[in-house]
Amino acid sequence: MQTEMIKIDREGELEQQLEKAAALIRRGELVAFPTETVYGLGADAMNESAAARIYSAKGRPSDNPLIVHIADLSQVDEVASYVPEAARRVMEQFWPGPLTVILNKKDAVPDGTTGGLKTVAIRMPSHPVARALIRESGRLIAAPSANLSGRPSPTTADHVYEDMKGRIPMILDGGPVGIGIESTIIDMSGPLPLILRPGYISREQLMEVAGQVEIDPAVSGKVMPEKVVAKAPGMKYRHYAPRGQLVLIEGPEDKVIEKINALAAEKEKEGLRVGVIASDEIVDRCSAGVCLHIGSRSNPETIAARLYDVLRETDKLGLDYIYSESFFEKGLLDAVMNRMLKAAGYRLISLQPDVERRAAE
Ligand code: AMP
Ligand code: MG
Repeated sequence: MQTEMIKIDREGELEQQLEKAAALIRRGELVAFPTETVYGLGADAMNESAAARIYSAKGRPSDNPLIVHIADLSQVDEVASYVPEAARRVMEQFWPGPLTVILNKKDAVPDGTTGGLKTVAIRMPSHPVARALIRESGRLIAAPSANLSGRPSPTTADHVYEDMKGRIPMILDGGPVGIGIESTIIDMSGPLPLILRPGYISREQLMEVAGQVEIDPAVSGKVMPEKVVAKAPGMKYRHYAPRGQLVLIEGPEDKVIEKINALAAEKEKEGLRVGVIASDEIVDRCSAGVCLHIGSRSNPETIAARLYDVLRETDKLGLDYIYSESFFEKGLLDAVMNRMLKAAGYRLISLQPDVERRAAE
């Protein structure tokens, strides 16, 4: 299959540029498109065989559900059987934007879209290309991230092309995305709102609108979730992983960079290809391996935006080992760490002094 790349001219008429893409969606075909979080791989959400194509293009396990993208609030009622008052408030406050809300589904939503679950994940993206594609196609668009299953999510059209070339008919190139990590997922299908995936919209922000909000215990820990909650099937699969072995190091800045340099030097001596992922704050002190700059701790947005590109870069460089500093902090960096821990298969070296560690427990 030929994969056509369409470069979107944001100054020009969007409708015209998306005509072909919208027709593909209506025909049950796949189109990759930019959103404000990451690139999505879209198909008609209400067409079972179209959704099935997503799974085969990504090589994704079929019980890992998709997110249904809408362009208008009224479309929630096409897929959700019941919308609690708190969920309405959350949607009005944060949509369009990087938040996915899980509700009980209507029968019309095919099992192929929800991975057989009785709930449906819904998001209204703010990216103009995503919104225009939904409108022009006249369909709700089911989409996961447009990467091969297990690989880092794509934040540019070139990332999508690397993974999807020959597997899908079209990629809409809207330039690099803004946020760079996937949407926050909040499950509002039960009595207590539960965050299943941290993202740009924080728990604190959600609590202001929805009252008490819990975080799924499997989400934020430093250890691999042993028993996976059936509600969040995506959690049990390997995610975001580069081909080399990623190891995270946490602790006081000076000790972290010292340890990273020692580990990197050791592996280099063994003849292995080594990379170091470092923020502005320590990047000048990298002394071994290829140093990859991930952004600035004082500006977490830069780190979220660079994360997946850096992970993909480690593959292009053919690195065997990658050592990275950790970002255990509140807010957006917590969402970054959630991805990094998965990408590292939870390999984490802690250099916290015992006292501090005990205090933190
Ligand atoms: P992706 O955008 O590639 O991360 O894929 C969509 C994510 O949404 C996956 O991690 C899914 O597990 C999650 N998701 C979608 N629908 C549901 C649902 N009904 N319940 C729980 N998680 C969901
Ligand atoms: Mg994904």
